[in-house]
Amino acid sequence: MSKYIDTHCHLNLDTFTHRIDEVLDAAADVGVERVICIGIDIPTSERAIALAETYPQVYAAAGIHPNDCVQPGIPDNWEQIIGEMLNHPKVVAVGETGLDYYWDDAPPEQQQKFLQAHLDLAQSNDLSIVLHNRNSDADMVKLLTSHPHAKGVLHCWSAPWDIASPLLDKGYHISFTGSVTFKKNRLVQEVAQRIPLNRLMLETDSPFLTPAPFRGQKPNEPKYIPAIAQFIADLRGLGIENLARETTRTAEKLFRL
Ligand SMILES: [Zn+2]
Repeated sequence: MSKYIDTHCHLNLDTFTHRIDEVLDAAADVGVERVICIGIDIPTSERAIALAETYPQVYAAAGIHPNDCVQPGIPDNWEQIIGEMLNHPKVVAVGETGLDYYWDDAPPEQQQKFLQAHLDLAQSNDLSIVLHNRNSDADMVKLLTSHPHAKGVLHCWSAPWDIASPLLDKGYHISFTGSVTFKKNRLVQEVAQRIPLNRLMLETDSPFLTPAPFRGQKPNEPKYIPAIAQFIADLRGLGIENLARETTRTAEKLFRL
């Protein structure tokens, strides 16, 4: 059986409370043997670390999501708090951070300030960064290409090839969720087809975005990674074993697992 890593999931959200064992077992049954649990604010970053301490197959990322960077719960010294979390041996990345101009939860200038601060943290701790980008392509390219840090992943890819290209040139990786399997997503499928195989990773972003053919099932779970793998393998005319092996190797290298 092929071995996979779900490089981006949110088992730290309430949806999964009391179900972690069941969810991890179901994932392992289909070869998804390791997962990276991603923080979106301080409590969920702490929860990701607690899960990583409890389960050997769970790793964590700590950061503040662009939609959450103004909520009253973000203290002034958040950089120091997140910075301390990065010293934990199972924290393998900074994030998720990024830009989201789809929702207007936080003003763009505030999001950009937080993204710059996360990039600085990733740079000074020599860690990968996990980036969210929604309806903010131009500013994302501008910010990332002008910052010296160049190690990390654009998660839940949603943009066309001309946005992927400069980010790949800079050194970034791209990961795909179940959204790549949605029929109307031609531009994203084109990117999944064209990017170098050694820059491509798989993720569920669970509990969101269940892939076809399981689309009605909620919540999404790490156990659906093989459906995403199969879809991308077919797009690229590759065997699924080959895609599994390469994407797992890429994630191991990027996150030093
Ligand atoms: Zn996420």
